[in-house]
This record gives sequence, C-alpha cells and structure tokens, in this order.
Amino acid sequence: MTVMEIRKYGDPVLKKKCEEVLEVTEEVKRFCRDLVETMKENKGLGLAASQVGVLKRIIAVQTGQGPIIFINPKIYEKSKEVVVMEEGCLSFPKIYLKIKRPKSVKAEALDGSGKKIEISAEGLMARVIQHEVDHLDGILIADKVGLLKKLKIKKQKVH
Ligand code: ZN
Repeated sequence: MTVMEIRKYGDPVLKKKCEEVLEVTEEVKRFCRDLVETMKENKGLGLAASQVGVLKRIIAVQTGQGPIIFINPKIYEKSKEVVVMEEGCLSFPKIYLKIKRPKSVKAEALDGSGKKIEISAEGLMARVIQHEVDHLDGILIADKVGLLKKLKIKKQKVH
C-alpha cells in the first residue's frame, strides 16, 4: 500500500469537481486501499480522492468500526436541524473553523467492493461525510466561512 501526498490549500486540484466512478475496477480498489492508508497515516477522520490529486468521486471515512470507503456518495436527505462544530481538514493543517451543517444525513454510495450501500449518519459521522462530499465538488471549509476568516487563512498560509 502507498501513502500518497496530501494536497494543501492553494493547490488548484482541490477546487476541481470530481467525476463519477463508472466501474469499480481492480485499479479503483487499489486506490481505495491507498486512500484509507493515507487517511490513517495522517490520523484523519476522512479523506477525499481530490485531496491526493485524483479527481474521482471516492472518499474514505474513519468510523468507530474502522475505515470505510464510499464511491459515488450521494447525500439525498439532510435534517432541517443544523449544528455548529469546529472542523479541521488535512488540506488545511492546524486550521479549525466553526461550520454550520445539518445534524444528520442519509446517503447512498458503493462500498470499496462496488456493492450498493445506504448510510444513515448523525453527529460527527454526518459531519465528516458532508465535509468529504463537499471536497468532491471542489468545496472547501474556507468556502463555508466569511471573507474575513478567509483572509486570515491566507495570512497563516504565508507565514
Ligand atoms: Zn477536508
């Protein structure tokens, strides 16, 4: 297994939209294993393919039962209730931002072997899934906060 390099804020690949995976081939499965390995190595709660420069709709999420892979994840239901939590991102080292998101979500995806799965998540797990799915659409935590905070992030990046 290979630990890949995590792309950091400012890398244009992070702003790109990822493409659907049409077939879960051996190559895709191998990439999924590397994605999990990279997430574990960096002690992340989640990691999206675009964060390692691969523009495919694949995310890895760390759960209490171990890591799972979601291929082509689609969030089809979000709770009306929203919660604010501090969020970090492996692409924004040492930066934590308070972000408002729906408390729970329902999603569907393919697992690492290509089998269709249904996900019902709340709390931290719901948050991680939303954060990672945002990555697949090129949306970063910095896009979720106001301009002032964004300028502060840029400043921290320079120094
Ligand atoms: Zn992230």
